[in-house]
Amino acid sequence: MAGGVARFWREIPQRYNIIGNKCGSCERVFFPPREACPHCRRKSLGKMEDIKLSGKGEIITYTIIHVGPEAFKEQVPYPVAIIKLEEGPQITAQIVDCNIDEVKIGMKVENTFRRIQEDGYTGAIYYGYKFKPVKE
Ligand SMILES: [Zn+2]
Repeated sequence: MAGGVARFWREIPQRYNIIGNKCGSCERVFFPPREACPHCRRKSLGKMEDIKLSGKGEIITYTIIHVGPEAFKEQVPYPVAIIKLEEGPQITAQIVDCNIDEVKIGMKVENTFRRIQEDGYTGAIYYGYKFKPVKE
């Protein structure tokens, strides 16, 4: 692949993507990646393969955070959900781009890469996984 698109993607650090891994024996997918498959154990050693996850899934359950850590206090209240990804693993993440009362169990969401926190002292900005509703 040539041109601007390829260059653009190469420059994006891997953390922009959700990287899990897959057992070469039973094909179960894990996030975060595991060294060995808990189902296949020794059979899976050396057969775990990194894969990029789609970043899409649905909300299994959620909670509304009303009192956050100091660094997040300007954001409260905000929803945090357990999301079951299309490939199977579950991930806990903040839901953004929707009103709290719109968050529902079963809602389709997708990964979005967002600023999580800004360090007022150093000016450092931290990024991480958040999820937003999939617009139908
Ligand atoms: Zn396995």
